[in-house]
Amino acid sequence: MRYATLAQAYGKLEATTKRLEMTDILVALFREVPKEEIDKVVYLTQGRVFPDYAGIELGLAEKLAIRGIARATARPDEAIGAAWKASGDLGLVAEEQLRARTQTTLSSEPLTIETVYASLKEIATTAGTGSQERKLQLLADLLNDATPEEARYLARTVVGKMRLGVADMTIVDALAATHATKEDRDRVERAYNVSSDLGEVAAVLARDGLDGLGALHLGRGRPIRAMLAERLETLEEVLERLGECALEYKYDGLRVQAHVGPDRIQLFSRQLEDITGQFPEIVAGLRDALRAKEAIVEGEAVPVDANTGEFLPFQEVSRRRGRKTDVDRMAQDFPVTLFAFDCLLLEGEDLTTRGYRDRRGALERILRETDGVRLATMRTVRELLDAESFFDEALQKGCEGLMAKSLDSTYDAGARGYQWIKFKKEYSAEMSDTIDLVVVGAFAGRGRRAGTYGALLMAAYDAETDVFRTTCKLGTGFDDATLFGLPERLRPHAREERHARVESKLTPDTWFEPAVVLEVRGAELTVSPVHTCARDAVRPGAGLAVRFPRFTGRWRDDKRPEDATSQKELLGMYAGQLKAVRKAA
Ligand code: ATP
Repeated sequence: MRYATLAQAYGKLEATTKRLEMTDILVALFREVPKEEIDKVVYLTQGRVFPDYAGIELGLAEKLAIRGIARATARPDEAIGAAWKASGDLGLVAEEQLRARTQTTLSSEPLTIETVYASLKEIATTAGTGSQERKLQLLADLLNDATPEEARYLARTVVGKMRLGVADMTIVDALAATHATKEDRDRVERAYNVSSDLGEVAAVLARDGLDGLGALHLGRGRPIRAMLAERLETLEEVLERLGECALEYKYDGLRVQAHVGPDRIQLFSRQLEDITGQFPEIVAGLRDALRAKEAIVEGEAVPVDANTGEFLPFQEVSRRRGRKTDVDRMAQDFPVTLFAFDCLLLEGEDLTTRGYRDRRGALERILRETDGVRLATMRTVRELLDAESFFDEALQKGCEGLMAKSLDSTYDAGARGYQWIKFKKEYSAEMSDTIDLVVVGAFAGRGRRAGTYGALLMAAYDAETDVFRTTCKLGTGFDDATLFGLPERLRPHAREERHARVESKLTPDTWFEPAVVLEVRGAELTVSPVHTCARDAVRPGAGLAVRFPRFTGRWRDDKRPEDATSQKELLGMYAGQLKAVRKAA
């Protein structure tokens, strides 16, 4: 089939924003495409040459594409560059330049889907020495044979900016309408959700019809689209909807789908990108932890502070896109733990159509917990009180809230529904101000921090009772010199026993009399049964804790411990947070 047919359809798609019209245009197009080429047409319409998860992107640098257009039209790079700066759309630039071209090339041949696809594939995959020149020439050759309209879409495709506005689900609609009836759309969508490969779904439909879709199984190496959760505002509503259900900690990290085989482990993100290279410690952890030859396991990866055992903000690992050496260093400094919460495939068997209990059971059977891979903490509950105490526990451990899961729910790939319900703490406003807290204890350091402290136990002052109550463990924000100077600097205040004016549920390795004040910045205040600051004021048995505390580097030697931030002030800040969030909502 000629590429011109595709370019014409793209022109029509671009001219509308209505999903129904887009579907009609696609149906007309798909009906014309020969069976053997439909997968390519679908990928090209998605603006790619492979399914997402293959990790092979076109995304040619704009500079190179400009040179390609210049070479094809025999114009200077600068002229094309200037035109691009003016319009911002390389597709339009290529189209205009081709229209303005005075000589037509003698060797020009009409472009077909096959030739275009083959060249684009080579552009996407060519690597190594001389690859830039090769990509450049491939693009120039394509443009050389193109009509101006075709050039618009070729240029956009190579730089990875199609601008058609066609969502994957619109392609699903069109495929269903082409090969079946509207009623069968769900089957087509399910095939896509399980395989994450619209090109393949299209090819199977064209070749074997609707019944062929049954052969599209969940498989290792091909990620499944993630099941998503609805949200409810209270635990009462959650229990009303689900009745007895499983509650799991909701970890605040990165969703990871691990495909484990005897010789290969691959990790995929929620966007289905291959992120195996970014998390060597998860790959190693899975090798030790899983007792299965073949499995697909899903979980949330969270960085854990080796010293405090507490979670770190996810930003600490979100930078892991650089060179391998950087990744290895970061994996050592801020290793992540994978909290596994689902098992989708086990020894060749697709578990997604089984109920939650079965899948969780399978996960528990095959997982031997290690530092790198743990089971998501789960409790089955029926009563509100149990749910509330589990929620407090989750927050105290540094989680965002809970995920409630219906006990017999199947894994509905790509779907958002009330089978899974997220329930987060109601406040998430940032602490806008720094606070000053008093050092009342310290925990011994491990590993690189051996010989100094892993974390300090910090307290706020309660003026009414003249007592210092704990509100966080502080382990980050110290440079090396400060860190290793801490024992010396704090020694004058060390004590064998807890100071009478300190109230703490935690027992540090060293106690200090309240004397030294440090400036701290936190992400927010949360309710915590572990800390004693403002205990019982917000919820019975629970106090206020600073989440993600970090030393600003400022020793408040100018402040007496009684001048530190008071419990009353923290309560005021907490109330402020709540108000801010309610307002935003
Ligand atoms: P969504 O994923 O629902 O579109 P979002 O990206 O804003 O929303 P959240 O609202 O934070 O994410 O909640 C959903 C995410 O929570 C999941 O995608 C997953 O990454 C994460 N998560 C953490 N713990 C769990 C758990 N135990 N079970 C399922 N998901 C969990």
